[in-house]
Amino acid sequence: MTTLSAAGSEAAARSESARLTDGFHLVVEALKVNDIETIYGVVGIPITDLARIAQASGIRYIGFRQETSAGNAAAAAGFLTRRPGVCLTVSAPGFLNGLVALANATTNCFPMIQISGSSNRTLVDLQQGDYGELDQLNAARPFAKAAYRINRVQDIGRGVARAIRTAVSGRPGGVYLDIPGDVLGQAMEAAAAADTIWRVVDPAPRQLPAPEAVDRALDLLAQAQRPLIVLGKGAAYAQADNVIRDFVETTRIPFLPMSMAKGLLPDSHPQSAAAARSLAIARADTVLLVGARLNWLLGHGESPQWSADAKFVQVDIAASEFDSNRPIAAPLAGDIGSVMSALLNGAATRRIVAPADWTNELADRKATNDAAMRRRLADNPHPMRFYNALGAIRSVLQDNPDVYVVNEGANTLDLARNVIEMDAPRHRLDTGTWGVMGIGMGYAIAAAVETGKPVVAIEGDSAFGFSGMEIETICRYRLPVTVVILNNGGVYRGDEVSSACGTDPAPTVLNARARHELIAEAFGGKGYHVVTPAELRSALTAAIASNAPSIIDCELDPAAGVESGHLASLNPTSAATPVSADA
Ligand code: ADP
Repeated sequence: MTTLSAAGSEAAARSESARLTDGFHLVVEALKVNDIETIYGVVGIPITDLARIAQASGIRYIGFRQETSAGNAAAAAGFLTRRPGVCLTVSAPGFLNGLVALANATTNCFPMIQISGSSNRTLVDLQQGDYGELDQLNAARPFAKAAYRINRVQDIGRGVARAIRTAVSGRPGGVYLDIPGDVLGQAMEAAAAADTIWRVVDPAPRQLPAPEAVDRALDLLAQAQRPLIVLGKGAAYAQADNVIRDFVETTRIPFLPMSMAKGLLPDSHPQSAAAARSLAIARADTVLLVGARLNWLLGHGESPQWSADAKFVQVDIAASEFDSNRPIAAPLAGDIGSVMSALLNGAATRRIVAPADWTNELADRKATNDAAMRRRLADNPHPMRFYNALGAIRSVLQDNPDVYVVNEGANTLDLARNVIEMDAPRHRLDTGTWGVMGIGMGYAIAAAVETGKPVVAIEGDSAFGFSGMEIETICRYRLPVTVVILNNGGVYRGDEVSSACGTDPAPTVLNARARHELIAEAFGGKGYHVVTPAELRSALTAAIASNAPSIIDCELDPAAGVESGHLASLNPTSAATPVSADA
């Protein structure tokens, strides 16, 4: 029986607890106040309630089947929105799976925050053998732009603010935020807790270039006989599309888009030098790099790919990037929007215009190469090979210019990058700086969730395997994602003869008869199996129009494709003489 005084003290306790909050709620509040609308993750100990509370409070939670894909989705969200994408992971192995994506985000300069639950410090630090025990903070440090741990409930707002600021300011990157389970469960008086949370003001401040640096760059461009602009994914990320376009068109300097900068200006733009890439690179005497690093993707800027005499002007928010490979004659440290505005003003005043004999030289080469490409695409071998499959995809995407394209694989990436034209900025997501496989489904999910637009992922059959189980995620959330699998049955190609004594397949061989479309059907999506370009065209048209999940398994000749795609030269060759089995 409840006495009056007992009822009174229960009520008092209730009102007391009503005035309390805890770590879970504070993380969610701190994210919300900073406009985080979506969390990508995999739940488990100790963060399951965090996902529930986030969902209840109006943050969208997208639950994945494996953390690397959740992290890749967060990274892609960061690239698309300029706000940090958030990934939520459980302790130890879940954290480590997510860390792969955090490292990839940092390498690609995408803003991302991985929030991970972890074991309680007292147990981890004395290595007492806790469930999911791992010193996650120190494990994350080398792979992230920064790594922080929140040790007290009253530091949650500060920790989230610090993570957001670090992820998006300067050169964007991945931030690790460690929250031990006991901190999530800690209670705090709600009114006091409200004061510990704040909204970050101007998280990625503009960084204006020094006037003398702008003059130095303009001097070089004004003297150039064969100037070239290289647009990288930093330029796409910066969302300075109009000023970049104005600068390119005012100066009439040919431009070369790196793969994720395709569409910043349409690939059909008359000044695009993409179809004359080798000539443009070899002959340019002055190169303006805009948000593109002179790394392996640009041959480190070295001759003979580039002219040994070429001078480089580089626009980058990270001054430490300059001189990483070749000397940078005119470094321009600042954010791309501000720097390109300053260059545009100066170029107009000085009337900088690319010489016509240079633009004509490139136009001639483009015409020749375009004709060769048209012939390749018109070729119609049976079974299908890469070019005729990609030709079919290209024609459908030309009719659907708002589609987001995700692309991974070896040959599938190398060839699709050239064949598939982009019209709109930030509509192409691919393997990026590491050339990594496994980003496919995570990136596709983020593109669909963040934009609401249809997504077509063009996948090699091997590349698809790294994140293929996320088809279930795509189907569960009914996302408008079409996965086209160019299935030649192997890593690179599927016809290698095994040198094993028994029946094991060769190392590069998968299964050319695999019916990937059945995976979509297993989870309620639509499956198509196609063997001709005409079938592919009609399946892809229907799949995009359906606005629903689907897989198109596209059966290719297992002999189509070359080892390592365009990167065969990066393979070291074995110096050892093969030893015969009976030696
Ligand atoms: P790509 O692979 O397309 O060549 P990279 O990833 O190598 O491009 O280069 C992107 C560069 O853009 C990085 O060096 C990064 O510091 C820079 N960057 C990113 N965002 C901005 C920005 N807002 N302003 C200036 N530079 C930026």
